[in-house]
Amino acid sequence: MTSAIVIVAEHAEGRIKPVTYEVIAFARKLQRHTSSSPISILLLADEVENPAQELADRCGLDVTAMRIPAMQSYNGELYVQVLAEFLADMHPAFVCTAHTSQGQDYAPALAVKLSAACITGVGDLIGQGKETAFARPTYGGKVIAHLQPTSPTAVITVQPGIHNAAAKPGNTKGNVTILTPSAQNRRSRSLGIKQADADTARIGDASVIVAAGRGIGEEDNLDNIRQLAALFAKSAVAGSRIVCDLGWLGYPCQVGVTGTTVSPQLYIACGISGAVQHVMGMQGSEFIVAINKDPSAAIFQVADIGIVEDLNAFIPEFIRVYNSEKGGQNG
Ligand SMILES: Cc1cc2nc3c(=O)[nH]c(=O)nc-3n(C[C@H](O)[C@H](O)[C@H](O)COP(=O)(O)OP(=O)(O)OC[C@H]3O[C@@H](n4cnc5c(N)ncnc54)[C@H](O)[C@@H]3O)c2cc1C
Repeated sequence: MTSAIVIVAEHAEGRIKPVTYEVIAFARKLQRHTSSSPISILLLADEVENPAQELADRCGLDVTAMRIPAMQSYNGELYVQVLAEFLADMHPAFVCTAHTSQGQDYAPALAVKLSAACITGVGDLIGQGKETAFARPTYGGKVIAHLQPTSPTAVITVQPGIHNAAAKPGNTKGNVTILTPSAQNRRSRSLGIKQADADTARIGDASVIVAAGRGIGEEDNLDNIRQLAALFAKSAVAGSRIVCDLGWLGYPCQVGVTGTTVSPQLYIACGISGAVQHVMGMQGSEFIVAINKDPSAAIFQVADIGIVEDLNAFIPEFIRVYNSEKGGQNG
């Protein structure tokens, strides 16, 4: 048994997903808490060279890249097979991955194969050394559970949007090792991954998110939200669950515990009450602006700027003034 920490990288279309860098920041924190050593990264893909090098250069950590020609897109069965075989010999203390749909898909099965604990949706760490525990929001964030693994290995999924993807310490570059394990999917094969509309799919990567709540009143008023979002580069439109349940936006746009967790530079909540299930998904945003006509709305408790206004009057006026002062250029 080693005290090593292993990170399983998430990637798409040949690029490392930003959430992987958040998991690396979490792993560095775990290393400090538990005095574990060292941290290394595993990457599974059919084409591994470019993403593996990107990781090693950017993080300064060693990367073991597993080339799996049979896996043109994510396949949970192959992940479990290849990771379990590799990690069974390595005996790491912690295997960390993102609490995304992928991580949630394979982490429990991997833990079973390794006879390991599986602690999912981890937000933070408490305690030091052997007393280190994993803090996980539960009951929609109303309480925080503290969990300690009792097995030598623990598989951990890390909640996105909480840990800042920190810069690497120093100028060191990691080494890349490429392996070609024999792996075959026996029970399922991936037919590919289809992206949702560009408008809605990328809220996890957006720098600015303009989110609509039921307070927008009706679907047609989404135009205001889209126009506001269009003022910013790298922006996306998102919504509360009610807005998605009503069919005004697709579910890939939903922010919250049962949607996506986001941490953009700027989050503008429009007509959103601030229910805990929504706030759990956006409270890691760097700067939060809330527009709500109710001055006692809970969303103002997490907002850096609160605007008590009717949004259907405020947003068009804001856009008009912005365009007249900035000449309508993207900010
Ligand atoms: C198990 C579970 C999981 C859930 N998961 C999620 C989740 O992932 N994401 C999520 O969002 N919700 C989730 N919910 C639902 C959540 O509890 C709330 O019901 C939901 O977030 C409320 O959406 P809202 O803020 O858009 O609507 P409302 O609560 O109806 O709030 C509308 C707000 O708009 C304001 N408003 C109205 N008109 C105007 C106007 N003209 N101008 C300005 N402000 C105005 C009102 O003052 C009010 O504050 C979940 C619930 C459960 C039970």
